[in-house]
Formats: sequence, structure tokens, C-alpha cells
Amino acid sequence: MDSIQTPKPHAVCVPFPAQGHINPFMQLAKLLHCKGFHITFVNTEFNHNRLVRSLGQDFVKGLSDFTFETIPDGLPPPSNKDATQDIPSLCDSTKRHCYGPLKELVMKLNNSSCEVPPVSCIIADGSMSFAMEVARDLGIQDLQFWTASTCGLMGYLQCDELVKRGILPLKDDFVTNGILDTSLNWISGMKNIRIKDLPSFMRITTLNDFMFNYVVYESQSCLRSSSIIINTVEELEGEILDSLKAKNPNIYNIGPLHLLGRHFPEKDMGFKSSESNLWKNDSNCIEWLDKWKPQSVIYVNYGSITVITEHHLNEFAWELANSKLPFLWIMRSDVMMGKSISLPLEFLDEVKDRGYITSWCPQEQVLSHPSIGVFLTHCGWNSTLESICGGVPMICWPFFAEQQTNCRYICATWGVGMEIDRDVKREEIKTLVKEIIEGEKVIETRLECLEWKNKAIKATDIGGSSYDNFHKLIKEIVDHNV
Ligand code: UDP
Repeated sequence: MDSIQTPKPHAVCVPFPAQGHINPFMQLAKLLHCKGFHITFVNTEFNHNRLVRSLGQDFVKGLSDFTFETIPDGLPPPSNKDATQDIPSLCDSTKRHCYGPLKELVMKLNNSSCEVPPVSCIIADGSMSFAMEVARDLGIQDLQFWTASTCGLMGYLQCDELVKRGILPLKDDFVTNGILDTSLNWISGMKNIRIKDLPSFMRITTLNDFMFNYVVYESQSCLRSSSIIINTVEELEGEILDSLKAKNPNIYNIGPLHLLGRHFPEKDMGFKSSESNLWKNDSNCIEWLDKWKPQSVIYVNYGSITVITEHHLNEFAWELANSKLPFLWIMRSDVMMGKSISLPLEFLDEVKDRGYITSWCPQEQVLSHPSIGVFLTHCGWNSTLESICGGVPMICWPFFAEQQTNCRYICATWGVGMEIDRDVKREEIKTLVKEIIEGEKVIETRLECLEWKNKAIKATDIGGSSYDNFHKLIKEIVDHNV
């Protein structure tokens, strides 16, 4: 499809204010921009200030048809300006406080004195239903963008049924009474799922749980929207997508967005920065990776929200030391909940020639580097997709939300990872790392990874499922506004 002529369609993009949502939203916004859209990208004030700090003022300048706007998140200013905000507080406060400011902003954009095209659609995060309400109240087309996995969304959509069947709320002793191992064989499109594989917010012992009610509401609102965009691949989540389409036929699976982006090089888009990092990137680690042999490096990264304890820190450290392999270990400055990260001197001494420890890296680039042998991950959806696209096997340590469900798919359905105990035991990780990097099944595992990687590439090739869906999505927006 050729780029669209004036008046340009205008998409207002409203991501949930966390890194794992901002990244795919930015990727989608850039692709739409490349296809001739005017973009208004709406960040919370707090995150926008962080973006400016980590990327420099320049990243917001110079593009007349791609503008950033901000709305307050409703939370009091945090003491640490470079830490992830508390997620339940953010969910609560965005739901309560953001409707008004967003509505005002969209009305301002639609005012004839504002020199931007009239707003054609609001693309609301699947966890920001208030943005969809703004669109409906102003008579503007609404689309929801579910940035996490389809298996996660399908998990959330089971909440009512689990209550009806008397499974939720769980009994107080659910950790020990064995209930979590119960198989759920009635979920359409999901095989081999146990209660423990459902998103963590569903492990409730009371129906008054805030996050439970939040995910019930948001996932059902998402389902009711006119169209749902998902950063996923038919080949990976086809069965679940089919069941979801039975509930809402207008699903656009257009992932992995970062691969789709290869058809539209950054330089042609006029962006100064290709990033949307809230932390400052340490790209020196790429040069460091160059010196290691193929598939030999352990890469550890817990994403933008996971926090770890002192016990976890020590177990991870000694597993890395005992593996005798090179490693890249990313620990955000806020990964220990405000405590400073202090590693034992004997550990630092032992690994000084083969360990690179830093606080943030260009992960997509890292995961496509040939020297990465295994990724120890918290199973966030973006990390999962990036690992699959890099052909890298995973050691899974899910933290919260739908990461548990992603982990089940990574290990049991796609066969590209192994799960470790929540408690983290250095010996267990060491054994798995050895098995994945040097063990008997190394070739088999790598081939499995390669197969999924090729499927993801194929889906985003010209004529592939994601490529075609992306163009259908553009057509839907354009036709709706004719
Ligand atoms: N990321 C990155 N560098 C890091 C850590 C994370 O660029 O050092 C990016 C990563 O590539 C992904 C996002 O941050 O796109 C994290 O999203 P994900 O869904 O994996 O996890 P979350 O942070 O939401 O838990």
C-alpha cells in the first residue's frame, strides 16, 4: 500500500506507562507514521521526563507529524525518579485520574485552531480502558492494543468461569494443598494448562482483590472493543487466536513488531533515536559480546519491573561464577527495591575476566548477537518474542502477571526453554545452563529455536500473516474515517 495522502489519518497512541508497553507502542506508532499517519504519542509526565533524561531532548524534536503529549498519572511524585512505579498503584490511579486529561487533550487536538489533522482513532492500551471510553464519548474510532501475549489475555478471560466453577477464590492453603497442579482442560485454544500457569493476579484467596478485579475489567473491556491489535504471531499462538476470534472477529495479530519494522528502516522515518528506553543504555556490552565464541554467553535480564531479594542476588551470582562461562548480567538500579546492589568481592574477583555487569542494555541487539548461548529471563512478552526472534533458548524465572503463562508456552508448547524454581537454587541453574549450552541436546534445542525464529520471520515477510494484518489494520482505520 502506498503512503496515504493528506489529510493524514491521525492516531493517538496511549500506552500503559511501563517500559514493556511503551516499546511495542512506539514500534507500532513508527510503522503507522511510516505509512503516512500523523501520530500523537501520549506518555505520562513522569515517564516522559524519564525518556528525555535517558535519550536527550533531541528525540522529541524535528518531526512535525509525530508529536509527544503528556498527561499526569495521578500519583504523587516518587522519591526515585528512575525507578519503575508500583504497578498496582499505577493501575488504580490511571483508571481513576486519566480519563479527564486525555479527553481534554483529544478535544484540544480536534480544535480547528490546532494545526494537526483531526483525530481518526485512539489506539488504547489493553490495560487502559479509560482511553477507549474517551474515544467512544467523543465519537472517535477506538482500537485496543494488547501488548502482552494472547495466552495471557486468554488466561485473564477465564476469571469468571473459574469463579463459576468454584476454583476461585483459592483456599488459604493453596500453596501446599496441590490445587495449583490441577489441569484445566476446558479452556478453548489452550492445551496443557494448569492453575499455576494462569497469570499471577488470578491466584487470589478473596474476590475483593484489587488486581484481580482490575484484570477482569480490563481484559473484558479489551474483548468488547471494535478491534484488538496484538503483538503476536499466528504460527506461535494460532489456536488461542482462533478461539479469541470466536469472541471478537476483529483481531489483528501483527507481531513481532520489531521484525515487521525491518521493512521500514529508521533512517527513512526521520527518527533521531530508534529507542524508547526509560533507562540509559550501555551499548558497550555489544563490543564485549564480540569477543566470545558463538553461543557461549549466558545473558541474564529481568526486564523493567521484576525485583529480586538478597537471596536471589547471591544465588544468581554464584551460579554464574560456578558455570565458568562468560555472562552478561543486567541489573537495573532499582532491581532490589531501593536497596543498593552489593556483590561479594570474592565473586567479583572470580568473574572479572568473563563477566559484564551493567544496568540496562540494547536487549534486541543483544539477543540477536551470535555469542549469546542462553537467556535467563523473567518471561515478559517482549523479552520472549525477542528471544524467539534471536533463536535463543530460555531459562525461565517468571515473576508476575502473565509471565507464568508465557513460561508454560515457552517450555511445554514451543519447547524453547526450561523453568527454574521460584526460590532460585544455584545448582539447579548451573545444571540447566550446562545442559542448554553444552549438553547432549544442544543441537536439538537450537534447531527448535531456529524453527520458531524462521516462523516469526516468515510471518513478517511480504505476504506473511503479520505483514498482511498490518496492512488490513491500516485499511480499517482509513476506511472507517472516509
Ligand atoms: N529492555 C531493554 N534493555 C534491558 C531490559 C529490557 O531494552 O536491559 C527492553 C526489552 O527489550 C523489552 C522491554 O524492555 O522490549 C521489557 O519488556 P518485557 O515485556 O520483556 O518485560 P517487562 O519489563 O514488561 O516486565
